[in-house]
Amino acid sequence: ERIISTEQTNGDEFVDMSLRPKMFDQYIGQQRLIDEIDVYIKAAKQREESLDHVLLYGPPGLGKTTLANVIANEMGVKIKTTTGPAIEKPGDLVALLNELEPGDVLFIDEIHRLPKTVEEILYSAMEDYFIDIIIGQGPTAHPVHFPLPPFTLIGATTRAGMLSAPLRTRFGIIGHMEYYSEGDLTKIIERSARILSSEIKEQGAHEIARRSRGTPRIANRLLKRVRDFSEVQQKDAIDVGVVDYALNLLRVDKKGLDQTDRKLIESMIRFYNGGPVGLNTIAANIGEETDTIAEVIEPYLMQIGFIKRTPRGRVVTPEAYEHLGIKYENNEG
Ligand code: ADP
Repeated sequence: ERIISTEQTNGDEFVDMSLRPKMFDQYIGQQRLIDEIDVYIKAAKQREESLDHVLLYGPPGLGKTTLANVIANEMGVKIKTTTGPAIEKPGDLVALLNELEPGDVLFIDEIHRLPKTVEEILYSAMEDYFIDIIIGQGPTAHPVHFPLPPFTLIGATTRAGMLSAPLRTRFGIIGHMEYYSEGDLTKIIERSARILSSEIKEQGAHEIARRSRGTPRIANRLLKRVRDFSEVQQKDAIDVGVVDYALNLLRVDKKGLDQTDRKLIESMIRFYNGGPVGLNTIAANIGEETDTIAEVIEPYLMQIGFIKRTPRGRVVTPEAYEHLGIKYENNEG
């Protein structure tokens, strides 16, 4: 398992609970989006209405679930959490919506993976707060009309493009989550260290931030690992030296790349002279799922300008060659 995996792992759960910001004033970064949603929440509260439906999209680990919970807390309502694949049939959705009180939030993670039949009944639920479903089969089949309380649907997805147009247009608020700056990640790490009762030097926090791929989930995980090294070495505080030592051992390099990232870039260089090369070819070459590359590995490599997408496929940039210490000879662009 990759230490820099953006997926939530079992070890994360307990700590995640305590590290998760509860209100806007604890939520660091994504400032433009937070300011915007803050206005919508204030307006909804003044009108005593439920908040408009919210779609959050962006790479895993950037705080979509956290933000959904913060929104519910700020609205002063309860939140019910589920995932797209868990809602198998229309009846499951009816059962979920039935438990909501007026104004509550239903959070659906991985909303792009909702079954089509469920997605279709969601339209009227979102728009006019009712659901019509067919109960029974054959000659006894009959339509049943379920009125619903007003509620807020918050959907999260890694790629907005994977959502059908009819579903996407039913969200009044669409929030794009961006990778965090080193400054914001440094603050998140300092906050987490305080909650974990660990002393950390600013330089130490900054070094973890630089190697966390712009992702709070990775930042918190690296902090926990580094803290173990620091305690075993009986340091008074986590400093840049122990961060560097621990992350080098964990093979997380100065830019936050691990072996999988390096393998991907190196095989593009070795076998395809740096590209252009297609996603499926790369996937077959390094033995990773195409989706994993497209959703998890590649977005960050593109963000830092190590890989570029061209009409003919992916290309390794001169910056990536330099980072890996390989002479740049590709002049195809
Ligand atoms: P996602 O749903 O996008 O995969 P999560 O909301 O589960 O991401 O966030 C992963 C972890 O990162 C959380 O448990 C939380 O501790 C931390 N985190 C996310 N966003 C922030 C933030 N803005 N400030 C502080 N910590 C954050």
